[in-house]
Amino acid sequence: MNLDDDVLTLKGIGPKTAEKLHKYGIRTVRDFFYTLPRDYETFETPISISEVRPGKIVVRGKVDSLTTRRSRRRNLSITEGVIHDQTGAIKVVWFNQSYRIKQFAPDKEYFFTGNYELKNGRYSLMSPAAAEVSDIDLRTGLNPVYKAHGSLKSHDFKRMMTASRDRFSLIPDLLPSVPHGTRAKALFYMHFPSSLKIAARARDYLAYEELFELILASKLNRQENNKLKASPIKFDNALIRDFVSNLPFKLTNAQRRAAWDIFQDLEKVVPMNRLLQGDVGSGKTMVATLAAYEVARGGGQVALLAPTAVLASQHYVNLLQIFEKFNVKVELLTGATKRKNDIKARIRSGEVNVVIGTHALLTDDTVFKNLNLVIIDEQHRFGVEQRQKIMLKSPANLAPHLLAMTATPIPRSLQLTVFGDLDVSILNELPSGRKPITTTVLSETDTRERLYPKIQETVLLPPDAKEHGAKAHGRQIYWICRAIEDTDKTVSEATSVKNRTKKLREIFPRLKIEFLHGKMKPLEKDTIMERFKNGEIDILVSTTVVEVGVDVPNATMIVIENAESYGLAQLHQLRGRVGRGVSDSYCYLLTTGDSSSSRRLRELEKSCDGFYLAEVDLKLRGPGEIYGVLQHGALDLKIASLSDTKLISRAQKDVDGFLKTPENLLKYKELMEGITKYQQITTLN
Ligand code: ADP
Ligand code: MG
Repeated sequence: MNLDDDVLTLKGIGPKTAEKLHKYGIRTVRDFFYTLPRDYETFETPISISEVRPGKIVVRGKVDSLTTRRSRRRNLSITEGVIHDQTGAIKVVWFNQSYRIKQFAPDKEYFFTGNYELKNGRYSLMSPAAAEVSDIDLRTGLNPVYKAHGSLKSHDFKRMMTASRDRFSLIPDLLPSVPHGTRAKALFYMHFPSSLKIAARARDYLAYEELFELILASKLNRQENNKLKASPIKFDNALIRDFVSNLPFKLTNAQRRAAWDIFQDLEKVVPMNRLLQGDVGSGKTMVATLAAYEVARGGGQVALLAPTAVLASQHYVNLLQIFEKFNVKVELLTGATKRKNDIKARIRSGEVNVVIGTHALLTDDTVFKNLNLVIIDEQHRFGVEQRQKIMLKSPANLAPHLLAMTATPIPRSLQLTVFGDLDVSILNELPSGRKPITTTVLSETDTRERLYPKIQETVLLPPDAKEHGAKAHGRQIYWICRAIEDTDKTVSEATSVKNRTKKLREIFPRLKIEFLHGKMKPLEKDTIMERFKNGEIDILVSTTVVEVGVDVPNATMIVIENAESYGLAQLHQLRGRVGRGVSDSYCYLLTTGDSSSSRRLRELEKSCDGFYLAEVDLKLRGPGEIYGVLQHGALDLKIASLSDTKLISRAQKDVDGFLKTPENLLKYKELMEGITKYQQITTLN
């Protein structure tokens, strides 16, 4: 059997159905077999209606007297009727499932399962699942439920699968022999389970298969990287020692260790491919600066890529200051940069040693003479193509060394799978003197009493002592909103930046309140940010554009509205905008959400550890949340869970075994074709 054949070749699938399936990406026989049930309903051991007791029940009977009406109070549709068997009858109710009215033929028998409970003074079977008796395998009582694809409903998939039932045994294995089963069996039992346990085992097999592919892709990427050549940069101890002794602070031990990892990588002919992970404020930039210095003094050029203009210019100002004494030429290249061509000419001639920039750096006319090191700040903010563009700017036949930085920690399980055990340095230590940020989850209705007084107090406190040159009357505040304008339909519930600014100005007429958002012109943004830095603004109302990296130590309070709509890792990142000076800092998470979202947010009250919070996120919301929007789709594994460490380590071991026999790469064609979809996301470069 050829899994690449069109679905049209399967029994029970005609041209019309095939066309519909194609529309939903189910093109081949493989796609079809891998369209797995999302759940199983169980109709095991129905009881007679005369024996029904409150609680979860399964009954078998016919339905009649079905009617649908609208409830006046909550605008629900209510479908009601009676289920009866030979022994008696019970009332049945569905909410907002008006299609039920057409589902049942009066003379046919159905299974129902749901809760039998008291509602408005009467016992009813509440919103039960239902299936026609003749559709259910009576030995198991299990009914696979498929996601509806347009007009193709769950029972259509069931019918189509059943028509192909005898084809499953012909499915060849994807992987080299796996002791715990075959693909043919796993797929068969997913669609035709003989028990829930067997369905779970089948799912494990397929999850393993998926992890195997992902891990294989990432390991092959790593092998590819090892074939590339970079120009090695010799470690110059005296040079670095002199540089470090001129810094205004002592490096943390974690910074030393990370820098040492990098210096060793840079000495090799194989390009460095290292991820520098460190919680917000852990001082990643300084580590990158050391690497940049080493490369620049060794005669190479360095590109530092930042996701926003605000961040790029902040890096520029810092590096300019540090490098001034050391004869390293630094330039900034963003969309707003004037005389770009002039700067580009000097990059091309090699006169500029370190270029800091945004996407503006990626254009074809930015040419380097000798690009040896690429540093990507907040790497998860960039797409694969963008990262590749900058990597290709090195001299012919040479690849640049790559240092990617992120404050959004990649949990161990993702490191192993998605990145094939890539080289990671971790800054697990904050510079001394930092204090934890006191975090409070507040219901939005409590703001007036609990938040406004705190705002008054904060702006009246004397400026953060260490902050040089701050002209602020007092400390400063960030206020983060979800939307820019009220008309922003995607986030209609949220108060917008503009509206919030207006309201705050009414409440605090004597404070200087300004706003910032991504749709403003770069120059406007820079001006606002500059004024905030200089202490000329008390409250900065902003979207998450301030999320990454912005450093204003005199800001000691941050308010985040609609906090429930963000992932914990992102909230932690946002919170990291404060707590950058020597004073106590505060974070208020405003929520309109239910108690379960508040519970999630309370993790932030308890923990200041970005790594821990990312793990919680991964469990609760899946990997896309952590890994960033750009690669979101690609990482949504269909079956496997990236928190299943046991299965991950088993797959890892087996992939290593697989790679020991290089001929395998030719022998397992389907596998090798299948992994191409993972290759782009499993690489840093
Ligand atoms: P992040 O890791 O979030 O990018 P930054 O590199 O922006 O952190 O550093 C945050 C702040 O800490 C900066 O103001 C930086 O100058 C300062 N800093 C970095 N390293 C140290 C250190 N070893 N001791 C004290 N301050 C440091
Ligand atoms: Mg940073």
